Amino acid sequence: MEFQTIVERLRSGQDPKFPGNANSLEYAETLSSQDPLKHLKEEFILPTRASLRKKGLTGSLPGSANGANGTSSNDISTQSGGNADDDDKKKSIYFVGNSLGAQPKAVRRYLDAQLETWASIGVGGHFTTWEDSPLVAWQDMSADCARKSVDLVGAASPDEIVMMNTITANLHLMMASFYKPAGQRHKIILEWKPFPSDFYAIESQIQWHGLDPRESMVQIEPDQDFIISTERIMAVIDEHADETALLLLPGVQYYSGQLFDMERITAHAQAKGVPYVGWDLAHAAGNVELRLHDWNVDFAVWCTYKYINAGPGSIAGAFVHARHGTVERDPEAIHGFRHRHRLAGWYGEDKSVRFDMANRFQPTPGAGGSSAVDLASLSAALSVFEKTRMRELRSKSLALTAYAQHLLDGIAGDEEEASDPAAASSPPFRIITPRDPLRRGCQLSVLLLRPGLLEHVGAALREGGVVCDQRKPDVIRVAPVPLYCDFVDVYNFMSILRKAIATAAAAAS
Ligand SMILES: *Cc1c(COP(=O)(O)O)cnc(C)c1O
Repeated sequence: MEFQTIVERLRSGQDPKFPGNANSLEYAETLSSQDPLKHLKEEFILPTRASLRKKGLTGSLPGSANGANGTSSNDISTQSGGNADDDDKKKSIYFVGNSLGAQPKAVRRYLDAQLETWASIGVGGHFTTWEDSPLVAWQDMSADCARKSVDLVGAASPDEIVMMNTITANLHLMMASFYKPAGQRHKIILEWKPFPSDFYAIESQIQWHGLDPRESMVQIEPDQDFIISTERIMAVIDEHADETALLLLPGVQYYSGQLFDMERITAHAQAKGVPYVGWDLAHAAGNVELRLHDWNVDFAVWCTYKYINAGPGSIAGAFVHARHGTVERDPEAIHGFRHRHRLAGWYGEDKSVRFDMANRFQPTPGAGGSSAVDLASLSAALSVFEKTRMRELRSKSLALTAYAQHLLDGIAGDEEEASDPAAASSPPFRIITPRDPLRRGCQLSVLLLRPGLLEHVGAALREGGVVCDQRKPDVIRVAPVPLYCDFVDVYNFMSILRKAIATAAAAAS
């Protein structure tokens, strides 16, 4: 089967060999029909062109004529024929899961269950599990979400995972435990263009220890363009190893979409004596395959509103390797337990004694302990991942993004074939994400090379019912998420883009 062959080629580092008719709706439909995960799209409510124009609440969900069940026929399968009304009801091409993932239908079901439980038995919900409810007792929900996240991050057990706070707060908490500057070992190695919250968290942690960020922050510059090679990262580690207290990098860089070789970089830093290696997985969790435990990563943090689809501002995650999470009885130690120091709270206390309120902190082993209402929406979002495996998702993702790149290459080449040789000399855009599929997630970052093109393309995409991310001045980030996007979406997206670039070029000449 075409789909499987493409996946196998991509996984083994070969050219996927898209055929001559790849740039056709027919071919896109063939791949979509062979996609073993195509049913997962039905787990989501995607905006429609009509819903994107809404100016207020109407009590109905996209794709449903009336009522709020969101299950009616918002069918995208054909783009031919139909009138403007049908167009309006079509699902949008939602390529912005790198910013906010689409809504799983399960979220409404889980939240309804949560609200009914709370209204019906109040505080009893902490300890009650109903057989017909998708939820477990509230005090077990964090552990339940951790269990469902094991495959996403490659933990050895749910004990290594905790769901709590935001990424930024978790970065601070992790650095409270893992950034221990002492003597000449005070530096944090990071990358040249970290997400602002990561930059500020690192900078302010350094200042909190009374140190000077100009001396304690080491930023790795890209060697070519926007890409940082593993060799360069290892060279910077070598240069600063003796003075480094922490290495903290993104798994997938949010701007360029580059996927870092977490295994090799972690091993290299640890071999050179860097005491702790942490990863920000905001753009990696739910996007690429991770094996945090086996890679011996010390800690990691991630959010759940991007590729994990738990909703805006949803609760974040953190991983602490099992070797840091042990708790041992020791009569000499304060409260009688020996463990790695942590900034503690009452949900960090072992469940068996949590409600004793005795203020004799008995830490729960591992990373654990938190509770929040919004674990319900996370639990729902993770229930979708339970219908598949990260390996399956990644296989589809490799093919989907390779197809997107193939069609983009075609668009970039359009003008070369055109009669005007002057236009051929400067392509309209350049992909800044690594071309090697194994060095990126689902996202392709496209740098537009002509002034004003971003606005023109942005307007055309909006008009065509596409939701994707535009980073001023001139980057669009195209993220065909494998859970709810398919090959037909990629084809349709590229048709709109191709037309927009051609009309912009015609208008300029
Ligand atoms: C999205 C993102 C964040 C967001 O942090 P919040 O605490 O959720 O606001 C942080 N870091 C990176 C790298 C991100 O991509």
